[in-house]
Amino acid sequence: MTATTTIADLQAYDRAHLWHPYTSMTHPSPTRVVVEAQGVRLRLGDGQEVVDAMSSWWSAVHGYRHPVLDDAARGQLDQMAHVMFGGLTHAPAVELARRLVDLTPPGLEHVFLADSGSVAVEVAIKIALQAQRGRGHRERTRLLSLRGGYHGDTYGAMSVCDPVGGMHTMFAATLPQQVFAPRPPAPGGDVEGWAAAVHALVERHGHELAAVVAEPVLQGAGGMHVFDPECLRVLRAVCDAHGLLLVLDEIATGFGRTGALFASEHAAVVPDVMCVGKALTGGYLTLSAVLVTGAVADAVSDSDSGVLMHGPTYMGNPLACAVAGASLDLLVSSDWAAQVAAVSAGLEDGLRPLAEVAGVGEVRVLGAVGVVQLDRPVDVERATAAALRTGVWLRPFRDLVYTMPPYVTDGDDVRLITDAVRAAVLGEVSG
Ligand SMILES: *Cc1c(COP(=O)(O)O)cnc(C)c1O
Repeated sequence: MTATTTIADLQAYDRAHLWHPYTSMTHPSPTRVVVEAQGVRLRLGDGQEVVDAMSSWWSAVHGYRHPVLDDAARGQLDQMAHVMFGGLTHAPAVELARRLVDLTPPGLEHVFLADSGSVAVEVAIKIALQAQRGRGHRERTRLLSLRGGYHGDTYGAMSVCDPVGGMHTMFAATLPQQVFAPRPPAPGGDVEGWAAAVHALVERHGHELAAVVAEPVLQGAGGMHVFDPECLRVLRAVCDAHGLLLVLDEIATGFGRTGALFASEHAAVVPDVMCVGKALTGGYLTLSAVLVTGAVADAVSDSDSGVLMHGPTYMGNPLACAVAGASLDLLVSSDWAAQVAAVSAGLEDGLRPLAEVAGVGEVRVLGAVGVVQLDRPVDVERATAAALRTGVWLRPFRDLVYTMPPYVTDGDDVRLITDAVRAAVLGEVSG
């Protein structure tokens, strides 16, 4: 931004030329300019400072401009910003892999570094298909996933997203046709009935299925649905009985968000393949990872090509790996579990009373995730404006006003967030 570029200029050019996520170019929805971010606050173009209740789409768990993460990025810049990963390696990637292998459930010991969550899911799908070929099952080419799920926006990932809420309708003709199990029940719901439905599907399709793909315990962008952890044990048992790989997508849930370091730990289930992303770099840079067991790595190596057929240009980007390593160190050396529990208690206090409000369907709190589901779609612009007047950045979708604050958000700021959610919700239901 040159000295003469005003906030209004930025907004005008943005409006005319830049696509934003899931928006129209020709009829864009409003955007606000952010000029700076610090701690849990964003400073907007009009000078207002607001608490970021979204953690930049669930990533900035330590808050903005954290000195440790800033130092990691600067320190790495003095070594090298990037170098290709084909035939070369470097300390930031190796040290990150070591941390990931140590932190994730036992058995997950091989790491593929990818550029984003969606790409991690693509790689996980390739791994599942190649592993089945390695085991002599070329016919196992389909995937079973869950209704209500979200796994990213690229083609393979889209194919395992919820077939109604996702983008299946528009792309149906060109998407791989997967098999969908019903949405798993909320905690205390009919797990047995759900398990019977899953068993029936796998009895019918098992011979053509390579893997089950699921988000553990919290289905995020597909509807912020919390389900009974017992369902993960059902999936593990079904996979074992029918020779399927269990792929758990921890991109949203990983690194403490749900109160466990990984959401699969709520059920003590270890997947064959795990995807992580989002909070991996503390919200600094795009990076994801796919972790697999030794058995899966062996099976991939037994497939026709003998190699894993993927390799992004920016694979293992040293800057991103250095920041991710620092972010994981920061996480494990902090009392993240107590922080998440404190945020959770604050969300529970502030949001639970909204369950009594007419027009509110349900309030759900899990770890540092607070969700208010309405009985109608949210007017995103009206709800956003109401939250901003309270001093908070919220980004509702569908019928959901929700928050995933940074873990470092203090009690006063959590209260500000729940006040903002309340203001946004009341603005929606009182019309
Ligand atoms: C966000 C998300 C993805 C996609 O990650 P991107 O980095 O946006 O590509 C995949 N799976 C889950 C569960 C997610 O929440």
